[in-house]
Amino acid sequence: MNLEIKNVTKKFKEKTAVDHFSMEIQSGQCVGLIGPNGAGKSTLIKIISDIMDPSQGVVLLDGKKISEVKKEIGYLPQYPNFFQWMTAKETLTFMGQLSGLRKEELTRAIPEIMAKVGLSGEENSKVRTFSGGMKQRLGIAQALLHKPSLIVMDEPVSALDPIGRREVLNIIKEIKKDTTILLSTHILGDAEEICERFVIIKNGQKIEDTTRAELLNKNSGNKISIEIAEKS
Ligand code: ADP
Ligand code: MG
Repeated sequence: MNLEIKNVTKKFKEKTAVDHFSMEIQSGQCVGLIGPNGAGKSTLIKIISDIMDPSQGVVLLDGKKISEVKKEIGYLPQYPNFFQWMTAKETLTFMGQLSGLRKEELTRAIPEIMAKVGLSGEENSKVRTFSGGMKQRLGIAQALLHKPSLIVMDEPVSALDPIGRREVLNIIKEIKKDTTILLSTHILGDAEEICERFVIIKNGQKIEDTTRAELLNKNSGNKISIEIAEKS
């Protein structure tokens, strides 16, 4: 799998949310997309997930337009929306069927995916009884239904309490073993815990693309620190 984001720009009237942004992601990588609020993370992620069209530029997966290979990309929105009165299983069945999976495929896939996100035994619980961390894990399950080769997660832990954050980060660490990940966050520590590569975005522009090894080297093996200038 090779994802190419090529010179992507997104304008909302006079506001440039993403500004000539390019990067590549290769199979097996876990990339943190880090930047302050308003940096353009969600906009870029929606473009990668084919939820939104860029004003300029293109995103290719293995050389193909993402609209042609939609199932290859799993998307976890910043604010996942669920029908509170549905059970977890009903949610995944409904969402799976909406996106073209057959009932038999789902009957097979759902228990496996529920286990993967640590929700085994919760199949018949209503979403409204779920904690924030559980809802986020259900969102990850939904994004994984198609067995995508890349999963894109928009601030998956930013709104969670410490327990939820821990649960979700542990699940992401597991998923990382067999799925390529792009994870956006405004908190460096979240990305630092799970990613090996860090791409910093600010005012819609890529300002840094570096690896854990490079950062450790620069800081003579001490703690990783990246300057995410908050002042703009
Ligand atoms: P982040 O996810 O990094 O916080 P966003 O991608 O949500 O940043 O937003 C980037 C910039 O684009 C912000 O200034 C935001 O106000 C603006 N923006 C995002 N979506 C829209 C929209 N639908 N219409 C107008 N402006 C938008
Ligand atoms: Mg955002």
